[in-house]
Amino acid sequence: MKKHNFGAGPSILPQEVFEQSAQACLDYNGIGLSLLEISHRSKEFTAILEESISLIKSLLNVPDDYSILFLQGGANMQFNMIPYNILNEEETALFIETDIWSTRAEEETRLYGKTSIIASSKADQFKYIPKDFTVDKDAAYLHITSNNTIYGTEFFEDRDYGVPLVCDMSSDIFSRPVDVSKYHLIYAGAQKNLGCSGITLVIIKNEWLGRAKRAKSKMWDYSVYAKNNSLYNTPPVFTIYTCLLTLRWLNKLGGLQVMEQRNKAKAKLLYAEIDRNPLFTGHAAVEDRSRMNINFVTTHAEDEDKFLEFVKPYQIHGIKGYRTVGGFRASCYNALPIESVQVLVQAMQDFEKAR
Ligand SMILES: *Cc1c(COP(=O)(O)O)cnc(C)c1O
Repeated sequence: MKKHNFGAGPSILPQEVFEQSAQACLDYNGIGLSLLEISHRSKEFTAILEESISLIKSLLNVPDDYSILFLQGGANMQFNMIPYNILNEEETALFIETDIWSTRAEEETRLYGKTSIIASSKADQFKYIPKDFTVDKDAAYLHITSNNTIYGTEFFEDRDYGVPLVCDMSSDIFSRPVDVSKYHLIYAGAQKNLGCSGITLVIIKNEWLGRAKRAKSKMWDYSVYAKNNSLYNTPPVFTIYTCLLTLRWLNKLGGLQVMEQRNKAKAKLLYAEIDRNPLFTGHAAVEDRSRMNINFVTTHAEDEDKFLEFVKPYQIHGIKGYRTVGGFRASCYNALPIESVQVLVQAMQDFEKAR
């Protein structure tokens, strides 16, 4: 029986993506060959790549002056590739620190240029998105993390900050419509809302290709990927196929507006129970609550292990909080059905009655 999978990543994908990608491993589209044994330059794979890029473009409404790249090394690699490609040594990159991912991004950037953290909620367990800060207009760019996977806060607005904006959207890309024109660079590891692990999507404004003046290694140069349509070397073909299947699913359901409504409904249901049930308390400030990663703790410390035991018969998987945070984290990515949230809410109510 399929479990209710609230895992934070790699995470749940639509059931049809599991089924169709499994079939493609045996025989891709009836051609008598597995997807795993055909050339990445074959007409079959070229069609997969082209359709993926065109669906990303239409779903996110990506303007024409942007390139859509598939890279490897995860979002963590982008913590390096971004400053390597964009930031000159004498320039400054600004950061809003809202999670350990943004901390890591800032630390890596110091290897390539100057950095400044203009706002941080670290001293308060990353419970909120800082709102009070000034942006130095001479900076090369500002980096933000739109959804904070570990602590469960989220930026919902595509704002103009007066400098080019770079955004790590690893855990909320495709969960709502985004105004791409507000960003110079968006990046996202695939393994939360896009497909299986192994690919990082980068959407970059063309005027930024080749921006930093340093001599660059080909495998680390965005413009090499842009020129070669992400086929400078062999890409992870299976991962890209799972992305395509997920994008088709998103498109079939009606795109990002529909997805946003679904995600709002799931989050509303679970936060309502967290707020109602005296045995549980939410982690994040109410106005910054993430729709993707919903963090909560038990009001009484001794209940934590008990609740983890209690949910087992409900076939609930993956709600244990991140190792540094404790408590619970229910990740409610696009593919998680509202029925799974209803089961979790039922378990919380039953736990209250049983106590
Ligand atoms: C998961 C996650 C990462 C890490 O991604 P990797 O692909 O493992 O490098 C980075 N940033 C955010 C916001 C994430 O959710």
